Amino acid sequence: MNIRGFLETSFLDWDGKVSSVVFVPGCNFACPFCSNWLLVHEADSLPEVSLEKIDNFLRQRQDFIDGVVITGGEPTIHPDLIDLVKHFKAMGLLVKLDTNGTNPAVLSKLLAPDSKLIDYIAMDIKAPLNEKYALAAGTKVDLAKIRESIQLIMSSGVDYEFRTTVIPNILGQTEIEEIAKTIAGAKKYALQQFVPNHSLVKAMQALDPHPKETLLSFVEIAKKHVPATIARGV
Ligand code: SF4
Repeated sequence: MNIRGFLETSFLDWDGKVSSVVFVPGCNFACPFCSNWLLVHEADSLPEVSLEKIDNFLRQRQDFIDGVVITGGEPTIHPDLIDLVKHFKAMGLLVKLDTNGTNPAVLSKLLAPDSKLIDYIAMDIKAPLNEKYALAAGTKVDLAKIRESIQLIMSSGVDYEFRTTVIPNILGQTEIEEIAKTIAGAKKYALQQFVPNHSLVKAMQALDPHPKETLLSFVEIAKKHVPATIARGV
């Protein structure tokens, strides 16, 4: 597996868990607000991290690390993702997957009731499932696949969350409510504050995030449909 980043210890990437984070390169989206764009567009400039090095760390800290977060980029574009997940599960670790939801075929294998491969999945929902999605993702998006991934995750029995980075020039109250209606009854929905500093598109770096009070008011709106809605980064 091509791994281009490893964070040994994180208290932020999996709520309630101490995790190590594995970063895999490349993505089939080009979100203008992407802060991981180096990993997405210039991964070859980053040193490769060997699985052996990761394993050594995890073995040494197995009494402290609960699990591994596999993130990107978009992990599901890698054919050997399932092998990587199996590798960490065989070490007795919990596994969380971050995804943009574009590959329901891969998700269905990982979430199959008899596979027990994934312990937690976090899927981004970039925008309401209409023409705004392409704006937020920076590319054409097959919305049927996004819908299929949402349904798969909600019916899987695996613990999960959906999350939206609230980009101020694309997402407001109406859009957040529309997304919340699409995932009504979900186990958890996180509204993440937009951080302009490291955005892929320079123009995004000049955008002010929604004020904290506005974001918190969106949380209240979303709660009408997903009671377990939270704010992150405010
Ligand atoms: S889905 Fe968007 S934000 Fe996430 S890694 Fe890909 S381009 Fe970046």
